[in-house]
Amino acid sequence: MHIHEYQAKGLLSRAGIAVHDFRIVEKVEDAPALLEDLGITEAVVKVQIHAGGRGKAGGVKIGTSRESVLQLVREMMGMKIVTKQTGSEGVIVHRVMISELADIRREYYVSMVVDRREGKPMFMISPEGGVEIEEVAALHPEKIFKVHTSIRGTVKEGDLERLAEFMGWIDEVQKEEGKELFRNLACAFVQNECTLLEINPLIEDGEGHLWELDAKMTIDDNALFRHPNLKEMYDPTQETEQEAIAHELDIAYIGLDGNIGCMV
Ligand code: ADP
Ligand code: MG
Repeated sequence: MHIHEYQAKGLLSRAGIAVHDFRIVEKVEDAPALLEDLGITEAVVKVQIHAGGRGKAGGVKIGTSRESVLQLVREMMGMKIVTKQTGSEGVIVHRVMISELADIRREYYVSMVVDRREGKPMFMISPEGGVEIEEVAALHPEKIFKVHTSIRGTVKEGDLERLAEFMGWIDEVQKEEGKELFRNLACAFVQNECTLLEINPLIEDGEGHLWELDAKMTIDDNALFRHPNLKEMYDPTQETEQEAIAHELDIAYIGLDGNIGCMV
């Protein structure tokens, strides 16, 4: 089950990862109070949909004054957005995030998946973040580094060192912050029974501190019964009608060659 960026941010923040403060707008008329509550006038406005590639599709924009932030909220709420990952039919925006602006010095890529062959979680990281990782993998495979954790999500000290060094975090303070981040991420991945956790970008600010800026999290459907708090995060507005019906019935929807079928 996919969850939204704002839901993933909440889980990551609880796991000790630095996340910028944000509010979620569900009704346009609530936006002024939410912005006031954040205590900022400059902010990034981001559509909350279960698809990446929002920036290029006009779904991530910076407002430099209170009025321009509110204008962006009005423009984005209810709009239909088509990104590389939504398919040509696109999706309607029901929620937008207003978030503090990040001071971005550098963008990195970090993800975790379950390596089926080894039966263990695996980090995939790159100092080339922000861009699509498929591009990095195709053009510069040497800029991607992979490391397994244990089944329980513990990372060996030597592997933590290698991960931090591959990112170029050689300054002692930054290296320790990076190692802690990898430890926390692996913990969040295992505790929430994820099948994917991707942070793109992870950023370094002007002082060298590391922040999550965009997160994508997928929870193992078969584990949801153990996590009522995660099950609640299901959003039927992001699914096709068939997927939503299958979810209601607690079965997985599988569509093959245009045929619709369900599998228990
Ligand atoms: P997507 O991957 O769907 O395009 P992102 O959240 O990664 O969306 O945003 C795209 C880009 O927008 C980021 O690479 C980053 O440069 C910028 N961005 C995102 N969040 C912020 C923020 N809080 N402050 C400043 N810039 C941001
Ligand atoms: Mg992104």
